[in-house]
This record gives sequence, C-alpha cells and structure tokens, in this order.
Amino acid sequence: MRYARQRVLPEIGDAGQAALASARMLVIGAGGLGSPALLYLTAAGVGLKEAGGCIGIIDDDNVDLSNLQRQILFTESDEGHAKSRVAASRLQQLNSETGFKVFQTRLSSDNALDIFSDFDIVIDGSDNFDTKYLVNDAAVRLGIPVVYGSILGFEGQAAVFSAKQGPCYRCLYPEQPSSHVPNCAEAGTLGGIAGMIGTIQAVEACKLALGQAHCEAYGLEPLIGKLFITDAHHWDTRTLEISKRKDCPVCSLPPELITLPESKPPQCASLPAAMDLNDLQGLFESGIPFTLVDVREPHEWESGHIEGALHIPLGKLLVAPEVLDTLNRMEPIVVYCQHGMRSARAVGYLREHGYDAFNLVVDWAQIQ
Ligand SMILES: [Zn+2]
Repeated sequence: MRYARQRVLPEIGDAGQAALASARMLVIGAGGLGSPALLYLTAAGVGLKEAGGCIGIIDDDNVDLSNLQRQILFTESDEGHAKSRVAASRLQQLNSETGFKVFQTRLSSDNALDIFSDFDIVIDGSDNFDTKYLVNDAAVRLGIPVVYGSILGFEGQAAVFSAKQGPCYRCLYPEQPSSHVPNCAEAGTLGGIAGMIGTIQAVEACKLALGQAHCEAYGLEPLIGKLFITDAHHWDTRTLEISKRKDCPVCSLPPELITLPESKPPQCASLPAAMDLNDLQGLFESGIPFTLVDVREPHEWESGHIEGALHIPLGKLLVAPEVLDTLNRMEPIVVYCQHGMRSARAVGYLREHGYDAFNLVVDWAQIQ
C-alpha cells in the first residue's frame, strides 16, 4: 500500500520497487541538495533494511540558522546539532524500514574509498570543488556512478557521471579552478532552486537503481553523457550532450592508477589576499569558520588584541613545527600583527605548509 502510487507505474512495478528497496545509496552532504534528495529517496522506499539496502549520509557540519532557508530537513530546534544525525533521525520517522548509515565526518582522500565501497550509487550534494573532484575520482576508481548536482543563484545543473558508460566530471571540467569560486553558502541561492536540483538527483538515482535493462525496457534514460542546465530567471532549460574525453586525467586511466586529490581547506571566495577590518567583519558575519592569529610579541598582545584571536608570536610560529598542528587546516587562517609585515611573513610560511592563510592589515587607530 505504502508505495502503491509508484508501483502502479509500469516503469516501476514490483520489480522496480524491489530494486529500489535493495539499493545502497550514499548522499554527500545533508544540505540544500541533500535535504530534498534524502526526503524523496526515503519516501520512495530506497534502501530498506529488510532488503539489504541502505542510505548513507555524510556531513561534518552542524545546523546553522542560515541553513534553514534551503535545507528543508531541519527546523529551528536543530540549530547547533550535527546535520547527519538530525537528518537520519528525522528521515527514520518518515520511513521506519529504511537503513541509515551516518558518517559525521568530512569526506577526504583518506576515507573516501572506504566509505564509497559500501555503496552502489553516490549522490553528490556537496557545495565545493574540492569535494566534487574527490567524489568523482574516488567513484571512477571504484566504478560507482555519481549523480551530480550544482546550484548557484537562480541556476542549477544536474548530470549522471558514470565512467563505465559515459563521461566523468573531469571529462567535462578536467582541472579544478585555481581561483576562488563562490559556493551557494557564500554567493547565495533561492531555496527552491536547491529543491529542484536535489529532486532531480533523487529521480536520477532511482533510475540508476532500477538498472540499465529495466530502464531500456521502459524508456527511462538516465542523464548519462548529458548535462541538464536550467536558469529560473526565464526558465531557460537545456540538456547538453557531453562526451568522454580520450585524454581525461582520471577515467582514461586504469582504476589502480587513479590517485585521489589531497583535501585542501574549503575555498573562501570572500577573502581578499590582503584583508582590512571591514573584510574581517564581513567574514565574522558570513558564518564561515576561520582561525584568527595574532603573531605579535607578548607585550604587544597585552596592550590590546582582537577578541577571539590565538596568540602565536612569529618567532614561535616559524621555529616550532608542532605549533602548526594546533591550527585547523580545514579553515582559512587570518593573521595580523602591528604593521602588516610580520603577518605577511607568517602568511607566506603558512601557505608553504598548505594552509589557506590571509594577511589582515589592522588600522589600530580604528580599534582603539
Ligand atoms: Zn573522465
């Protein structure tokens, strides 16, 4: 009875419903795309325990008030709680038979292969390029299809990257952009746009779970080798053909030669190389997590510093490698001193060691 309204469709039927039930799908990110995708997949009876299926949810973030505008799995009372756990418990109320696997961690080159290997389909709801490239490379290596989605402003894109049958993400975009590109948390989007693309991802994931033979028999065509693009300004909607690149840096290689890209700190579009106090204020208000470091001498620190800063004198930073380990690599590091010279030196040093560091030049008169 529960799935009667979709089982009645010849394209689904009893065989299709059984295929959905036994599917093992991993959703990367319980955010704007992941929320609608997870809701529809769970409601549709994907990943039932009894059938040996499951739905994985990976997210390392906590619910923030600014998420509620588009991340429809969450409510005000969830603020501050881990997204992956809140999502699983809410979805379990929707369908008690679904088997959820919660990964409250950030996807990285160290854990991606381990986590992916328990799933047949990956749904990429991430909002940054580092994760999208990592998801692609790990999935190509393991031969798992990825249902891709991306949103920015009023625009959305969706595709299925299945390297066995068609192009992968790197066939479309071979290398990661080197400049900072804003994601929707920084540049903004309308909630419904995320809802639309996340919903398309849920539909495409269901088609993949039905299997190629089933899809061909019933005229269902997954978005393999195609890129769906829509712009809600005027609803200009296109589906572009994309082809496999013979010299693709990833899917042209034998799987064992595919190495995963090292994780880098999340990209922050809003940070200029040299920041002033107004930029710092903007960063505070954006809610992007970051580390503020004061590299002045103790007597300068004593005479006044910016609240929330860590105090690491430049001399100590440059000679004590263990100090680096106390800094969070996943966050941008904003460094300041008295006149901007010592902090510039510190920024150079931190960047050499793989940190995303920025120089904050403080006009002390503005503070005192
Ligand atoms: Zn490729």
